[in-house]
Amino acid sequence: MATIDQDTRTLKNYINGKWVDANTEEYLDVTNPATGKAIASVPISSSRDVDQAVETAKKAYKSWSKTPVPKRARILFKYQQLLTDNHEQLAELVTLENGKSYKEAYGEVLRGIECVEFAAGAPSLMMGETLSTIATDIDSQMFRFPLGVVTGIAPFNFPMMVPCWMFPLAIACGNTFVLKPSEQTPMLANKLAELFTEAGLPEGVFNVVHGAHDVVNGFLGHEDIKAISFVGSEPVAKYVYEQAAANGKRVQALAGAKNHHIVMPDADEEVSIQNIISSSFGSAGQRCMACSAVVVVGDGDDFVQQLKEKVDEVKMGPGMDESVLLTPVIREANCANAMKYIELGIEEGATLIRDGREDRNGEEEDGYFLGATIFDHVTPSMSIAKDEIFAPVLSILRADNLDEALEIINKSRFGNSATLYTRDAKAVRQFREEAEPGMLGVNVGVPAPMAFFPFSGSKNSFFGDLHANGKDGVQFYTRKKMITSRF
Ligand code: NAD
Repeated sequence: MATIDQDTRTLKNYINGKWVDANTEEYLDVTNPATGKAIASVPISSSRDVDQAVETAKKAYKSWSKTPVPKRARILFKYQQLLTDNHEQLAELVTLENGKSYKEAYGEVLRGIECVEFAAGAPSLMMGETLSTIATDIDSQMFRFPLGVVTGIAPFNFPMMVPCWMFPLAIACGNTFVLKPSEQTPMLANKLAELFTEAGLPEGVFNVVHGAHDVVNGFLGHEDIKAISFVGSEPVAKYVYEQAAANGKRVQALAGAKNHHIVMPDADEEVSIQNIISSSFGSAGQRCMACSAVVVVGDGDDFVQQLKEKVDEVKMGPGMDESVLLTPVIREANCANAMKYIELGIEEGATLIRDGREDRNGEEEDGYFLGATIFDHVTPSMSIAKDEIFAPVLSILRADNLDEALEIINKSRFGNSATLYTRDAKAVRQFREEAEPGMLGVNVGVPAPMAFFPFSGSKNSFFGDLHANGKDGVQFYTRKKMITSRF
């Protein structure tokens, strides 16, 4: 663990509208990935902290669930304005703790604000359905009600956007919420809580408990928690899904990914290269929608050469430098994991055409940087083709035609997203009908849906049935009640 500077901030939990010390002796350094220096210290809270937060949220639920829906929505409108007023500050904080470029961070904050805007539509979103005369003089009505105390568990890679997929909508629907941010990027969540209170949210409706496994396990076993939203890696998502479901909770668990981009021979070369570079190497390849495998259809030698030349021009550095695309990965251990995969790729016989290890100059203290790495002639059975590396390491596979390319992408156990670069409408239709991933792009590098649509990963990229965001999100955070009345 790195030494904590004297002026390092020790984070607190946010419970019942107050900053409180966690019931723990264990703290972890939060480091700036661009410098390797400690910027804060985060408590690794215990299940006692979970109990405290849930009890508070349970009490707050009594009045919050009965607060008129338009009144709840009005607080969301105010929150939207405060987040917008603080857009730059929030983006700087994302860059500081996550390492991504300020431009990416600014975009991420906007994505978060869009979730608040969607949630502010609660009065229409929560409307039920009615049918007159289902039998003589008998009508049926369906109402939506909140669930109770619900929780969210977030990953490090989107400290703003991912929590915003969860708590604004859950709260707008009348639930109370306990968030566990990633222990690697915990600072932004405190700002989100602070601003929500400033917007007029009553005490105890939104709580933040920092920590790691113990908090998650505390959620999984807590009888007063009705639903859990999880976003993170595949093994943890599967664990959370299974445990939460076994304990009778509603659960949506969004997981890891291996996203393929298919380049057809008729694709616009400039558009596809530009999109692949920004998708693969932006945010250091640490997006769940990042392109980590390209499938080139036909004789792709010239395309691969052009791509490699453009990647050579990509600048690596800290996120506050405007000219930088490739920023650091989150921790040195993530660099080490990616370098292990680079070794594995070489051993398995792929052709390493760009070795990002050569761009690493300096020690861990100088930040967790790894240069853009590209393997060509990767085959589907290789580990670098199958596993999520979550770093700037790109695999290129070759296919003779679209059928073969689709077969490659559908073999993946993941199903988050895929993109097709082409001008051919028939190819687009075949891609739409036959590709298994749940989010598809056509000539778009990061086909992430906006907040009013579901974030609809499939296969091992998602465990559950109701996705985050959109109408699915509303259904996830509400239960239905049917009334049948004779008049
Ligand atoms: P992670 O799984 O390591 O951590 C996610 C959360 O789970 C954190 O809050 C962490 O504290 C907790 N956690 C980790 N290990 C745990 C364990 N053994 N028991 C209980 N809790 C545990 O993920 P990460 O490294 O923070 O984030 C990157 C991953 O998230 C990638 O796999 C990425 O694809 C995925 N992700 C997916 C989506 C999506 O929409 N599908 C979006 C963003 C990120």
